[in-house]
Amino acid sequence: MTYLQKLASDTAQHFLKTYGRSPRWIVAAPGRVNVIGEHTDYNDGFVLPTAIERYAVMAADKAPGTAIQIRDVSGVEPAVIDLSAPVKPGTPKWSNYPRGVIAGMLERGMTPGGLDVLLNSTVPLGGGLSSSASLEVCTATLIEAVTGRTLVPVEKALLCQKAEHEFAGVPCGIMDQFISVMGRQNNLLLLDCRSRETQLVPMNDPAVSLLIANSNVKHELANGEYARRRAQCETAAKILGVSSLRDASPEALENARGRMDDVVFRRARHVIGEIERTIHAAEGIRASNWPAVGQLMYASHRSLRDDYEVSCKELDAMVEIAEQIGIKGGVFGCRMTGGGFGGCTVALVQTEVIESISEQLAAAYKKKTGIEATIFTTRPAAGATIVKGQGSPSGSPGAPIAPAGRAGQNSFATLEALDREYNGRPTSGRPANSERRCGRHRVAARQGLRYPRSYSKAASGQ
Ligand code: ADP
Ligand code: MG
Repeated sequence: MTYLQKLASDTAQHFLKTYGRSPRWIVAAPGRVNVIGEHTDYNDGFVLPTAIERYAVMAADKAPGTAIQIRDVSGVEPAVIDLSAPVKPGTPKWSNYPRGVIAGMLERGMTPGGLDVLLNSTVPLGGGLSSSASLEVCTATLIEAVTGRTLVPVEKALLCQKAEHEFAGVPCGIMDQFISVMGRQNNLLLLDCRSRETQLVPMNDPAVSLLIANSNVKHELANGEYARRRAQCETAAKILGVSSLRDASPEALENARGRMDDVVFRRARHVIGEIERTIHAAEGIRASNWPAVGQLMYASHRSLRDDYEVSCKELDAMVEIAEQIGIKGGVFGCRMTGGGFGGCTVALVQTEVIESISEQLAAAYKKKTGIEATIFTTRPAAGATIVKGQGSPSGSPGAPIAPAGRAGQNSFATLEALDREYNGRPTSGRPANSERRCGRHRVAARQGLRYPRSYSKAASGQ
């Protein structure tokens, strides 16, 4: 039984206990981790996230009346969303994520009617692994399952993003919702935040995994500092005469050094370098060149720590410990992930020594900071999926959950639709892993980027 099947089965049992009958639908949407490409999204750059094996799951059944009632297994105050009046932001606060999504679905004529829903999420809340997007995408997937109508994936992701902007009041980018909708097992997603084009980056080698360590600290300055970083990037772009830092080269930045203050210069140096590192990392992953990818992750961390100044001593401690374990101990690379000032690190590690790495990391981090880290590992997971429902007979108590095999099918349909939307040509007939592998030269040409010789050699394994 996979992690998701077990979670879905537990959620079905919980639904039975809560509502006294079995659920007719079970849907899931994953959290995500950004492997590289930090603070590049609002600079029109690239990000390289993957869906993780941690999910928001909803089990549901029809209910009389016009209200959608969502209970959470953790026992927080339930959300009751009445569909007989226009859906507006309301209470409890967390209900605004599903409210915003449901409002968007209703606008599109997708009316689910009254529902009893049980929410069970294993994505840590507020840890930078996108529990918010997984909750939104899970809600959208439930409404799709109930109404039997599906949205084009890009539209679904944008609808969820809009819910987060307008109902939850969080001005997030597009990454979290895109990856939760479009993630695909054994793949990362290279997302161009300017054009919204996506490319799958296969990471098929089971010998390599991702290890996520939650520092379990969150320093309060995050919001104000985030706004300040954005303003500094805009200042740098203005001085460089470009609409966003995506269009600036390292040389242009160097030439303009005398015309901007040192802080603005360093912020821009991070962004311009990080966009380049993200594309290099995608190439390194395609080439299974794990040491090269690992070096890019360490370089990303140093840049976030020294130039962008969004790390903190706990994240730095975790990365230092990982670096000390090193390639000999099975760690290729490690960096802070997410906005910064706390949250998680992500490391690229050898699967077979995962346990020993986790133990060493946890012990050394505790020794250095006095804090217990929460550590788990994942392989690149599939995006949102309907685990049970859509025409399948409603299960009796304890009935087996439909296999999660639909996941692949679901996300493949998703990619076809994407290709059609952006390229006017479907992917069907092509092998699963061949989706528009836009070579680095094509991407580089489009971006005005050049690839350092040293990297080209590393990536090709010479
Ligand atoms: P992240 O997305 O990194 O986890 P956010 O601050 O964006 O952090 O989102 C966290 C918020 O999302 C929580 O404070 C809560 O309002 C909401 N949320 C996410 N998952 C759940 C859940 N399972 N139950 C209730 N609220 C949730
Ligand atoms: Mg979030």
